[in-house]
Amino acid sequence: VSSRSCQKIRGAQIRELLDSKQSVLFDCDGVIWNGEKAVAGATDVVRLLKKRGKNVFFVTNNCTRPREKYVQKFSRLGFADVAQEDIFSSAYCSALYLRDVVKVRGKVFAIGGDGVHSELRDACVSFVEGDADDSGMSIVDCPLEPDVKAVLVGYDDRLTFLKLAKACCYLQNAECHFLATDPDPWHPLRQGRVTPGSGSLTAALETATGRKATVIGKPSRFMFECIASQFGVDPARSLMVGDRLETDILFGANCGMETLLTLTGVSTLQEAQGYVDSDAPDKKDLVPDYVVDSIADLLPLLEE
Ligand code: PLP
Ligand code: CA
Repeated sequence: VSSRSCQKIRGAQIRELLDSKQSVLFDCDGVIWNGEKAVAGATDVVRLLKKRGKNVFFVTNNCTRPREKYVQKFSRLGFADVAQEDIFSSAYCSALYLRDVVKVRGKVFAIGGDGVHSELRDACVSFVEGDADDSGMSIVDCPLEPDVKAVLVGYDDRLTFLKLAKACCYLQNAECHFLATDPDPWHPLRQGRVTPGSGSLTAALETATGRKATVIGKPSRFMFECIASQFGVDPARSLMVGDRLETDILFGANCGMETLLTLTGVSTLQEAQGYVDSDAPDKKDLVPDYVVDSIADLLPLLEE
């Protein structure tokens, strides 16, 4: 792969790029929408790409909802015809990984919310969850499941100390698998507020156990493998569009796709350019091939 250039592109360069691709993979938050608001122009971009016969997929590290809830969200925000099959979330892919790769026998101890639990249920992976209300209970007195063969950690806004403590106990068994839905450190919310991401919860357990979790979501290749196994996409003819260098852009690079950074989300052009000049070889994969201010910049080329 030639060295990535972090080029701001427009007009004919965007047209050439789109013409060369058969599939477009979109990150969701920061690219397609910000929270409950669609990014301006995004609904038209998705509609017109599909009209041109492109495959459009959505890859999100947000594990809080099952895919059917994303279908509802797409429709609520004005995206027509986004099917559940086109949506690859870290919760869904974690469930597939446990079922098809780990082939877990026994139970999964799942830290997470409805998204994680529903996807595990749909994949017929049996699991136990920590009690949401365990106040006052000590890890010494609380019963542990005898048959836990994997711990899966995802975003959990009802995380408790006891859930972490139970996970530590299960992970003492070296044969118990340790998985994380995604490595995201934090997320922007409204009004300048932020929330810690799944990666921060996983880090607590990594410190406590001295083990490293296997990450399923971006930047790991597994999400692309899920798409490729269901749709037969060619990375050389696929474009990854994202707003976060450490997850989306690295994911694209890890999977052999060209990458497009949009500036409507977390990462800035300055950060991206900072990596161009970096001496560390492992930082080069954080440099996007192309940059646009917003996916709305694709619109004029698609409307022609
Ligand atoms: N995880 C959680 C809990 C989030 O709230 C978000 C974004 O809002 C994400 C992950 C990142 O999602 P995406 O990969 O679509 O940017
Ligand atoms: Ca994002």
